[in-house]
Amino acid sequence: MYRVIAFAFLLLITAAAGAEARADAPFCHAVTNLSATDPGVFDCSAEPAGYQKRSLWLKIAAPTDSHIVYVHQTRFERLTALFEYADGRTASQSVRRGNYGARWRAGGQIAFEPPMLAAPIKAVILRFDRLASHDLLRIRLPDDAEANAQAAALPVIVGSAITLLALGALYTLSVGVALRRVFLLWHGLWAITMVAWGLLWSQLALIVAPGLAGWSSQICTFLACLAVTLATISGVVALGKDMGPRALRIGALVPGLFILPFGVLASLETGPALGWQVGVLGVLTLSVLALVTIGLVNACRAGNADAKALAWAWALPMATLALTQVVDMDAWLYGGGSQVVMLVAAALQTVSLSIAVTLRIAHLRDERDRARAAEARMSELASRDALTGLLNRRGFVDRAEFMIEGRAAPGEHFGLLLIDIDHFKRVNDGYGHEAGDAVLCRIARRLERWEGPLCVAGRIGGEEFVLGVTGLTPIGIRQFAESVRRGIADLQHPELRTGHAVTASIGVASADQALSFQRLYGWADQELYKAKANGRNRVIFRGSDRNAQAVAS
Ligand code: GH3
Ligand code: MG
Ligand code: MG
Repeated sequence: MYRVIAFAFLLLITAAAGAEARADAPFCHAVTNLSATDPGVFDCSAEPAGYQKRSLWLKIAAPTDSHIVYVHQTRFERLTALFEYADGRTASQSVRRGNYGARWRAGGQIAFEPPMLAAPIKAVILRFDRLASHDLLRIRLPDDAEANAQAAALPVIVGSAITLLALGALYTLSVGVALRRVFLLWHGLWAITMVAWGLLWSQLALIVAPGLAGWSSQICTFLACLAVTLATISGVVALGKDMGPRALRIGALVPGLFILPFGVLASLETGPALGWQVGVLGVLTLSVLALVTIGLVNACRAGNADAKALAWAWALPMATLALTQVVDMDAWLYGGGSQVVMLVAAALQTVSLSIAVTLRIAHLRDERDRARAAEARMSELASRDALTGLLNRRGFVDRAEFMIEGRAAPGEHFGLLLIDIDHFKRVNDGYGHEAGDAVLCRIARRLERWEGPLCVAGRIGGEEFVLGVTGLTPIGIRQFAESVRRGIADLQHPELRTGHAVTASIGVASADQALSFQRLYGWADQELYKAKANGRNRVIFRGSDRNAQAVAS
């Protein structure tokens, strides 16, 4: 964007320094008092001078197939176009500052279309009253085919570029707010400024505010300066400390901010001082551009993601604009010239920055999803037992408490089955720890088969397992515990000698009240102790029922 704006000023500077108004055909000039009615003798050699407070007359020999004259709007009081036909007849058309009537065209031009007579137009005389700068004039006399193509294409090109810029502005502003990225807010303001600049420069703003005619050139100068300031702030904020030394950041900001008061001066100026003011603006813009570019390179090297997004966003418009430096674009885009190229480049820049921002959002979302998945995995791992993969004590208690709280019907019980393997020490002692591990895992796989929405399994100690079950009556829970005991006892263990059965004792606690897990666990532990004491490989049940007294078997 810095180069876009710098190039705008460069154009103005070169135009000022080049000291030559451009037209399709060569022209001669004369300078008279404002009250004069006749230009007198035209001078076809030297440059016009001293015309700012007077009338400047330009005489252009018209090509025979041209029936329209485009004047790129500049600062003047009044502009009259006098057409001389081959048969000696003449026709005159005139516009005043602030009132272009129906003569303004999208693309920053004023069009004079003389009546079609039998005789061709021989010459056009343009009379500018109080013209600010002859150097900034651009006059075109296209042939009919080109004029038709321009009338159709230029509004579309300009309109699309401005629409894209406006959408880009809205997008970057809303993303800036959503992601709290300050540089995007500054960038959005830049894009809005460019939209305003585009609307005024192209004169499309005259559709709703015809009174702006004559002022738009001055407002455009100010908006271009504002755009450089906003772009500077956006760049410096985006790159931050990664830009490099503090002096570099301040060095870029100072000329960026200084441009604004000079912009105000230049936009109010209608006299020859415009030349040096534009020169100062160009120097300030170029220094901002140079310093921010150094900062951008530094920040890219430092791995600043925003710097990379900015660099990508600017790559295409910068390439386009590099081209504008070596190629004369006045006739490009149907006479829209370098300003339209600049508008299109700014629109492309906003689109590419929007894409870069979208990719960055997608990247951030991926990072967030990965972090969440890792967190979920960590928490899952933290709740699992490493040997058997069953829930560990913490994981089981969480699930069990959830089930206790979530019991649906009043008569529904939650049953806690505390399962301790009988004489497990003997397995370890007789067959080794590895065989013991294999037996524990096999039992875990068996318990897992009961797992489901109403049943949860866990390993809460060395050879102590646990099942939590809901949705059953006390009798159902007791029967379930019995089938668990049988299921464990029936398991075949190839690691062990034939005939070495591995059994389990089960203490069961069941309640239909909001008893805490700890309370149930205490009950189940007591019943387990009884089961061990009563000879092992058995189930002992204790239930609490609101309607019946505690039952045990
Ligand atoms: P009881 O019928 O009274 O429960 O007798 P027991 O031998 O099962 O009980 P005890 O508490 O005396 O022994 C438990 C044994 O379980 C002791 C320990 O070596 C073993 N053990 C605990 N954790 C593991 C494990 O992860 N792998 C293996 N292989 N053995 C384990
Ligand atoms: Mg034990
Ligand atoms: Mg045991």
